[in-house]
Amino acid sequence: MSIRKIEPTDSAFNYPLIIKNILRTPLIYSPDQEIVYRDKIRYTYRTLEERIAKLANALEKIGVKQGDTVAVMDWDSHRYLECFFAIPMMGAVLHTINIRLSPEQLIYTINHAEDKVILVNSDFLPMLEAVKDQFETVKQIIVLTDLDSPPETSLTIDGEYEQLIKDSGDAYDFPNFDENTMATTFYTTGTTGLPKGVFFSHRQLVLHTYGLMSGLCAYKSMFSVNSEDVYMPLTPMFHVHAWGVPYLCTMMGTKQVYPGRYEPEMIMKLIMKEKVTVSHCVPTIIHMIISSPAAKQFDLSNWKVIIGGSALSKGLCRQALEQGINLTSAYGMSETCPLLTVANFKPHMLDWDIEKQVAIRCKTGLPVPNVILELFDPEGNPVPHDGKSTGEVVVRSPWLTQGYLKDPEKSETLWEGGWLHTGDIGYIDTEGYLQITDRIKDVIKTGGEWISSLELEDIISQHKAVSEVAVIGMPDEKWGERPFALVVLKEEFKGKTTEEEILNFCMKFVEEGKIPKYGVPNKLTFVETIAKTSVGKINKKEIRKQYP
Ligand code: AMP
Repeated sequence: MSIRKIEPTDSAFNYPLIIKNILRTPLIYSPDQEIVYRDKIRYTYRTLEERIAKLANALEKIGVKQGDTVAVMDWDSHRYLECFFAIPMMGAVLHTINIRLSPEQLIYTINHAEDKVILVNSDFLPMLEAVKDQFETVKQIIVLTDLDSPPETSLTIDGEYEQLIKDSGDAYDFPNFDENTMATTFYTTGTTGLPKGVFFSHRQLVLHTYGLMSGLCAYKSMFSVNSEDVYMPLTPMFHVHAWGVPYLCTMMGTKQVYPGRYEPEMIMKLIMKEKVTVSHCVPTIIHMIISSPAAKQFDLSNWKVIIGGSALSKGLCRQALEQGINLTSAYGMSETCPLLTVANFKPHMLDWDIEKQVAIRCKTGLPVPNVILELFDPEGNPVPHDGKSTGEVVVRSPWLTQGYLKDPEKSETLWEGGWLHTGDIGYIDTEGYLQITDRIKDVIKTGGEWISSLELEDIISQHKAVSEVAVIGMPDEKWGERPFALVVLKEEFKGKTTEEEILNFCMKFVEEGKIPKYGVPNKLTFVETIAKTSVGKINKKEIRKQYP
């Protein structure tokens, strides 16, 4: 017998999985539910729908067509949420720009993504002014601001967001189109040089929304989310669509609170005033919040926080639990939309004591439905799930990027053998929980942002006194990791050059816009030799052992 493929009835509607359909249900289920922006704006889902239509009309008026790329540079705001919907729903592509990129990386991503329009918060106008002479495709700039009038700028501004919304009609007939249409794109700063663009279709984002729903809402666990929750993101919306949670919460008709720029006082105020019950962030942010004196004065016992982007340590987990915060780990990456795993509890773990639960909460997690996750050894063979054998995490799921934008070679490497290679190393225990233990990609994650260790090595090697250099990520309580450089000096410079001199030399590359400031190592040590592998490559594994 062969499979029996279904032949559709001629008149049957071929229902596309497109973002506009995510927006239907909340308008029936909870149209009066609120969307809040800081202490400034509060409106209902009905208004959200109207403003999305108005934004689409405004963008159409300035010439945005299907297939065009429209970029956004903003803090986490209700306006950003409107862009998450209006831009892809028109059939255009939303480019969420990482506001922490260096000027060189910023202009590269703008030109590479072929941005036609940029919607920019007035706070970031100076960043665009610095690169405007290198724009290749940008035709219009729209400014978003909370100020009464936007600040002076040398850029040509083609409109102000609120004014454009005010002047536009509140009905827009969002079309149906192929679910494989590109909806979003953004850049990840990888191991070498320039950022790499990943891209996601409507179908992928819709399926990812269901993936989040099953991973976060379906199981009776210590941690679960539903439509009664109040959501506030603490992972920037430019970073993998704030992990896709705004799409999930909109689909569920949840109250949503957008904090704008992350300021501890405003965050605490919003959690209390708006009764926020669920957020997500990197460990650095939760560390900052629970260490702030303000946090000690408030009752955070209704707050659930999904921790991802880096491993959650047991110490931080315990500290947060002591303050009443219910937290759990999740794992994913830019290339994977991002969700892969959530550290949900299994039924028999629900009455475990705190210590055993901490161990589960800090695991990288169980793959969510429709994620197939395996571990491969360097020869590409699967390793057993025995809680000790380690291998590279490789995945399959319907929502993984199909490659890197305009880079077939790197796309093939990413997808070698039909599995997306994460570059992360881990083991899977007999209960099926993944634990990430290391990384094969040569990058350092500091405060949730990447810096390439190879790039730093390249910069430091250009100092006249440097003979050899290796850069690794050092564990750091606050930032997760910080770059740490080992340098072998040339004979003639020994005793004549200081560590500081070399670090100051790195600052020149920050001033030139080549690397962001957080990329400069805060520690550099002179050594006699640097550990090498048998084939003479710098042995980072060994160095990490020497400098734990
Ligand atoms: P990004 O593409 O910036 O979202 O970074 C994704 C990478 O962050 C992954 O490949 C991992 O190296 C790391 N990562 C994300 N979540 C976790 C986690 N829960 N535990 C350990 N590492 C993580």
